[in-house]
Amino acid sequence: MSDITVICPNCQDQKPISNLLTAQSNQNIIYKCEKCQYEKKNIQTKKG
Ligand SMILES: [Zn+2]
Repeated sequence: MSDITVICPNCQDQKPISNLLTAQSNQNIIYKCEKCQYEKKNIQTKKG
């Protein structure tokens, strides 16, 4: 397995993406930074 590391655009904290992304329903994915509580919705992971 390969974890993708994402960097929070707000605080530059780095975490494995698997720990940050919350999948809701089938397509809506929300990124939330535990450090600064920054949230970003509708991350593009796939086409469509
Ligand atoms: Zn952050």
